[in-house]
Amino acid sequence: MSLLNNARDSIIMGLEDYSSGKKDSKRLISCARNLFAGILLLFKHKLAELSPPDSNEILIRPKIKAKKNEHGEIYWIGDGKNTVNVHEIKERFNSLGISVNWDRVDKVNKLRNDVEHYYSDQPKELIRNLLASSFIVIKSFIELHLEKDLESFLGKKSSDAFKIIAHAYNEEKERCIKTLNQVDWKSDSLLSAIVEYDCPICKSGLLTVQKVESDLSDIKFICQSCDYSSEFNEFIEEAISDYFGYQNYLAYTDGDEVGTISCPNCTKDTYIIHEHYCPLCGASVEHKCRLCGIDIPASEINGSGYCSWCDNLLSKDN
Ligand SMILES: [Zn+2]
Ligand SMILES: [Zn+2]
Ligand SMILES: [Zn+2]
Repeated sequence: MSLLNNARDSIIMGLEDYSSGKKDSKRLISCARNLFAGILLLFKHKLAELSPPDSNEILIRPKIKAKKNEHGEIYWIGDGKNTVNVHEIKERFNSLGISVNWDRVDKVNKLRNDVEHYYSDQPKELIRNLLASSFIVIKSFIELHLEKDLESFLGKKSSDAFKIIAHAYNEEKERCIKTLNQVDWKSDSLLSAIVEYDCPICKSGLLTVQKVESDLSDIKFICQSCDYSSEFNEFIEEAISDYFGYQNYLAYTDGDEVGTISCPNCTKDTYIIHEHYCPLCGASVEHKCRLCGIDIPASEINGSGYCSWCDNLLSKDN
């Protein structure tokens, strides 16, 4: 029970930090830390609960060791008192089939990191964004995996306060999305990238367009929380790089498929592979090799219409 109690205390403290610290940036930083810590404790509680008895809560231990019982049989237990980090929790949840909205968790973690290291002057909008994402993660996790509801878990006072903050933010976010949906973006990924992108100045997610335009290059983005505004090209380059950043990183480290490549037409890193489309310049190049017919690997797409092998062959013929 103690991990679960600690999770609850941490989340309640985070909410108290917020309500008492609207002008005090130190309390807002503490709010971010407490909420993220609370989320991790909830996850660890679940892993501890699922660990076999007498295993030193093996599922929350990053290190494990083999032991032999009196019959000479080998079994595993957790080693030491250290507990798993976010990445290890992710791996364990995946292999145990425990579903979590990791995009949201990663967002809370990223915002927490931002507030601690870069945005400590006026972090109020960032914290509202973080609270709204935390709310979604916490509420769905305790309902789905701990079979509790928010009110019985946090108590009525904290649960009501949490709901009011999250709903107010989400209503503003919905209004932004509604306006964004009126634009014909010509790319679903571009729309998702814009919706997910946080203001580079105040880190709220409350970005929208100043005016719905039919010509995308005329579009100006504005932040509803601060004075930030940006032209189409500059903005979407950033938004796409942010949106595909993690996928491109995994492509680099684990050999997964890349999300974007450098555009053969405009040379910006905004060519979206699965859509065969660059939202920045509108280019769409041949992705099946004209000679051998294979899907040209992402790293070989250069607008020539040939895979590198055929390209090579043709250049030898000439
Ligand atoms: Zn802003
Ligand atoms: Zn392009
Ligand atoms: Zn080919």
